[in-house]
Amino acid sequence: MIDQFTLRMGLIGNPLGHSLSALMHNRTLACMGLNGIYLPMEIAPPYLGQAVLGLRALSFTGVNVTIPYKQDVIPYLDELSSEAQACQAVNLIQHRDGRLIGHNTDGRGFMASLLEEGVGRLNHVIIIGAGGAARAVVYELARAGTAQVDILDVVLERAMDLAEFVKGTAPVQARGHLMDQGRLTALYPTADLVVNCTPVGMHPGVGNSPVNSLEGMKPEGVAYDLIYNPPFTRFLGMARNQRLHTINGSAMLVHQGALTLKILTGADPPVAFMKEVINHAIAPA
Ligand code: NAP
Repeated sequence: MIDQFTLRMGLIGNPLGHSLSALMHNRTLACMGLNGIYLPMEIAPPYLGQAVLGLRALSFTGVNVTIPYKQDVIPYLDELSSEAQACQAVNLIQHRDGRLIGHNTDGRGFMASLLEEGVGRLNHVIIIGAGGAARAVVYELARAGTAQVDILDVVLERAMDLAEFVKGTAPVQARGHLMDQGRLTALYPTADLVVNCTPVGMHPGVGNSPVNSLEGMKPEGVAYDLIYNPPFTRFLGMARNQRLHTINGSAMLVHQGALTLKILTGADPPVAFMKEVINHAIAPA
């Protein structure tokens, strides 16, 4: 029953048509027996500040933040977690004791998914795309002890900026490169993991891939696509042809969502149930 005690949560972004967060969180809240609701809220850019500050007035427990507002919400917040501060990106706003606190659970969600897949220590990682998701991923990989990271983007400055950023957060050898298949192929033989951090291959552009080939990767290498819709992208298809271990973005989505619920409710969410909800939603018809 929705009443004055209902925990108010949600997602702010624009557009939100692609998002599975409301489905996942509402089903999980019900499964946990919590009196809570999770609302998708598409916010037009001129109202972003009012929407964030209004969370306090409307007694929201917290909201996730997605494209394009992960950086734009920061000026309205009272405090940032160490991850959000380092990455200068927020994917969760927690309202606690009248204060708005920004968190970033993307990177930790990514690391939790690697652990779950049995992927151990990574010495050399290739990152394709140098946007917000790549920043959170690279930050956590470097903190976990990855020795070398090569970042490729269609804009060289972005790749180089991200490399400089990560070098300032941990003792890691990081290099930025312009996206180029020849460069990539030269990096493959020593790479333990290659991660697609671009939206290339995401629905509806399902025939696309950010790489032309994954030939040259070590047989024990891992290919990770942050995309979860479709669950099996062209990039992962190339990886399967090379017999690499493949991982899609659904586990990261689930784990960042579980961290969200843990932070906002204090309870341990049922991760296996959340995964079932997402896998069912993205399964090909
Ligand atoms: P973003 O900020 O747009 O960053 C993507 C970066 O990749 C941009 O710099 C982009 O350049 C670059 N790029 C595009 N095509 C490329 C190519 N062929 N080769 C190299 N670089 C290329 O996006 P984001 O927010 O980081 O998100 C990236 C992906 O991760 C999206 O698909 C998103 O849905 C996914 N994601 C998944 C989860 C999860 O939980 N599974 C969480 C967060 C994000 P241009 O902007 O110039 O095109």
